[in-house]
Amino acid sequence: MTDAPERITLEEWDVQYEKLRRAGMRQPQYGGPLSRHVEDGDHRLRKLRYDNSAAALRLWNFLLTEEDRLREARSAGKKIVGTMKDLGTVPVMAYCFDNVAAFYPDGAWWIPCVMELSDGLLEVADSLGIDESFCPVRAMLGAFVTGAHFPIPDMLICSVGATCDDLSAIAQRLNGLGHPIFWWEMPHRRCPEQDEPAVILPGGIAAPKCQVEFVKSELERVKAALEELAGERLDEEKLSAGISQANRVRQYLAELRYLAFTAEPCPIPALEMLIAEMLAIHFCSDRRETIAVLGELLEEVRGRVNAGLGVLDADAARIFWVNPVADLQVMNLLEDCGGRVCGTEYLFTHALDMIPQDVPPLEALARCALADPMAGSSIDRAERICADVRRFGAEAVLISRIPGASHCALEGQVISEIVAETLDVPVLEIEVPPVTDSMSPTLRTRIEALVETVRARRRATQGIRSDR
Ligand code: SF4
Repeated sequence: MTDAPERITLEEWDVQYEKLRRAGMRQPQYGGPLSRHVEDGDHRLRKLRYDNSAAALRLWNFLLTEEDRLREARSAGKKIVGTMKDLGTVPVMAYCFDNVAAFYPDGAWWIPCVMELSDGLLEVADSLGIDESFCPVRAMLGAFVTGAHFPIPDMLICSVGATCDDLSAIAQRLNGLGHPIFWWEMPHRRCPEQDEPAVILPGGIAAPKCQVEFVKSELERVKAALEELAGERLDEEKLSAGISQANRVRQYLAELRYLAFTAEPCPIPALEMLIAEMLAIHFCSDRRETIAVLGELLEEVRGRVNAGLGVLDADAARIFWVNPVADLQVMNLLEDCGGRVCGTEYLFTHALDMIPQDVPPLEALARCALADPMAGSSIDRAERICADVRRFGAEAVLISRIPGASHCALEGQVISEIVAETLDVPVLEIEVPPVTDSMSPTLRTRIEALVETVRARRRATQGIRSDR
């Protein structure tokens, strides 16, 4: 543990950086002060609050240097694969090859936020007919056209079928612009019929065995395409070794999530946890370093929990968060309003659940892919959320809608109704665009009201107990 934990501004990080450096902090080759990223155009960093540990610094620097890492991989002769939509399955396979680096071009989702709209990516998407009726993933289209962010991949792989309309439409537009895509199909996950052979997927949902077999056959095609690109065969042994490494990431995250969501006081801010969780999807273009970054963060958090230290007041309202936020600053806002995150469902629980290691590796990946919350009904999603709300002891649920997202218009309402009926906890829905500055007072008022509702319910419960 490096210091008394607290949330600090970017300016304060400059001071903290010098202090840690003088104290002998060891940094990776991509290390350095956080504020240098503002010079690259990441203006939003000036408005965020950060955890003050060396482990958090490493996490942020790792995240903010991904584009450099991809360019270095290309210079070193590696093939670059852009994987889209499946969130966590194809990269597990891609990182089994020695000469492949994979990333999600969908991650451009956050560029308009991080660069505070100065990048012009949304305008480029507008000019191509992909306007604000689509979710912020349309920034990806702008990033391909400008070529100013990530290297154009040697191969693009995208799942279609039971996925959102936004990404399917944008990926088709991309294909039409001369970026050929290898498509693979994800069926809509359904409940097994009575007496139909079924499989329990990671996360506990049952699916028909024939659907798992279908996804497996699709992943066979993906594997063959990757083998051709890499010029290397991917046998079961190599794939199993890759799954073991992916499970190390998931194991670290499982412990991190448990400690972050249950320890009193909260040992690590929500923003750093959001970034840490995202690493499960794509390893930020370096799987080995992901394991090291998460290992250091976990060590920091364990140290804080053992010492009874945290970054927030012990009585912070315990909020379960649904959907990723387009504006990262909103994770800070929840904490500024007196809340803390106790459980998350950022649309990729299937990238956090352990990959089975007692079945053939491709079948294991197929089971994970089919467990994608987007591939099934909103009811499945809501039931998983209810189970996790109970598990982490959250006192309220906050659903952050994504503007334009084709799965959100009614999904938020379905989740909200099921959670309210099942758990009797307050639910708040907010919409979070890439930059929330103009609506920050409204968001603050609504989140403060949720926090106050949680506190009032606590007081009422304590009153009932003391009356007994
Ligand atoms: S609609 Fe939802 S799932 Fe689809 S790309 Fe946008 S945020 Fe992601």
